[in-house]
Amino acid sequence: MSSLLIKNVIVNGKKQDIFILGNKIELIADTINSPAETLLDGKGKSVIPGFINMHTHSGMTLMRGIGEDIPLMEWLQNVIWPTETKLTDELVYWGTKLACLEMIKSGTTCFNDQYWSLPYAVKAADEMGIRSVQSIVILDLMDESKSDVLKYECDKMYELSKGWPERNKFSISIHAAYSVSAKMIEWASRYAMDRNLLVHLHLSETEQENVESLKLHGLTPTRYLDRLGALGPKTIAAHCLWIDDEDISVLADRDVKIVHNINSNLKIASGYRFKYKEFKDAGIIVSLGTDGCASSNNLDMLETMKTTALVQKGWRGDPTVMPLKELLSLATENAGKSLGIKCGVVKEGYLADLSLVETNSIAFTPNINFLANLIYSANSSCIDTVICDGKILMKNRKVEGEDEILKMVDKLYKKLL
Ligand SMILES: [Zn+2]
Repeated sequence: MSSLLIKNVIVNGKKQDIFILGNKIELIADTINSPAETLLDGKGKSVIPGFINMHTHSGMTLMRGIGEDIPLMEWLQNVIWPTETKLTDELVYWGTKLACLEMIKSGTTCFNDQYWSLPYAVKAADEMGIRSVQSIVILDLMDESKSDVLKYECDKMYELSKGWPERNKFSISIHAAYSVSAKMIEWASRYAMDRNLLVHLHLSETEQENVESLKLHGLTPTRYLDRLGALGPKTIAAHCLWIDDEDISVLADRDVKIVHNINSNLKIASGYRFKYKEFKDAGIIVSLGTDGCASSNNLDMLETMKTTALVQKGWRGDPTVMPLKELLSLATENAGKSLGIKCGVVKEGYLADLSLVETNSIAFTPNINFLANLIYSANSSCIDTVICDGKILMKNRKVEGEDEILKMVDKLYKKLL
C-alpha cells in the first residue's frame, strides 16, 4: 500500500505531521517518524479538506463565455442546447479534463457532475485522479417516444459503471421537473431507489419555473417531484431558490440534500434569496456548487464560498448568518455527507482528500484568522498542493499534463461554434 508523510504542516492552528496510508488519513500527531514512500514538507503551509463541488456540468468548460448576458430559458433553449447537439465524445473528454484541471488548481478534490458522454467524462476524471460522482442525464423534453432509448442507455451505463474505478461513482440525473416527462421522472426515481443510487436534479432555479409548474400541475416543482417519488435522502437538488414554507417541510421530511450555486444564480439573475437559515433550521443539509462554466464561468469554490457569505449577510442584513467554520463545512463536510462519501474532513479514518495552502503571501499577512484570510482575502492561487485519494495531484501548483490540456481545448472548442 502506498504511504505519504506530510511533515510540519498546520492543522487547525497547530503544527502536526499527517501520515496517509493508501487512500486514507491514518494518523495525525505532533511527530510521526514512520517511514513513508513519499515525504512532503508542509513547512509554512496549512492543511484544509479538499473542496467538493456539489453541482456542475464539467464538460461545459468548453463553453466558457458563450451566451453572456441573457436570461436562463433563452440561454438554455437558444444557446446551450443547440450548441450541445454538436458535442462529441472527444470534446466532452477534453472539456472534462480542463474542468478537472481547473478544480485541482483551485483545491477541489471531488465533484458531483451532470453531463453527456459519460464514459469519456469518467475516463477524464479518472486520468486526472480526482474523485467524482457522474450521472447519466435523463432529459426527454416531454417527448415520451424517447423513453425506451433513455431506459436502455441508463441500464447500459449502470452495468458499465460497475467496472469504474472506486473513486468515480455513478448516479442518475433527472434534469428538471420542466424538462422531463412525468413518466420518466417516476421511472428514473424508482430505478435509482432500487439500486441505492444518488439522484441529481435542478429544482426551482427560476421563478418562471414555479409559475409554469403551478399552471400545469397545480403544484410547486417540489411538491410535483415529491408526488412522482423523486425526493428522498439520496436526492441532491441544485438551486432551490424559489421555495416556500411548505416546500421546505417536504424537503426536510424527505431528507433531500440541497446545493446552493450563488455565482451562477446571480449571473443569470435567477435569484439570490437562498433560504439558508430556514433550510438549516429545518435540518436540511446544504452544500455548495459552482454550476457549469457556461453560466458561472469558473469552477472556483473559494470564490463560491465568499459570494455565498457576502450575499447571505447582505440580503439578511445580518453579519452573523454565515460564520466562517460553517461556510467551510458547506464546501467540504456537508458535501461529503450529502454524497455518502467519507471525505471533506481532515481527520483520521477519512479519505485523504486535502490541500496545502501557502500562507507566505500578502493575503495571509498578518495571519490572525486563517479561515478569514483564506475565504475573504486570498484567491485559489494560494492552493499549493492537492492530494486526492492519497495521491499528490498538484505540487508547487504544477499539475501533470496541464499544457497539453490547454492546447487541446484551444484547438477543439471551435468545433462547437
Ligand atoms: Zn446546473
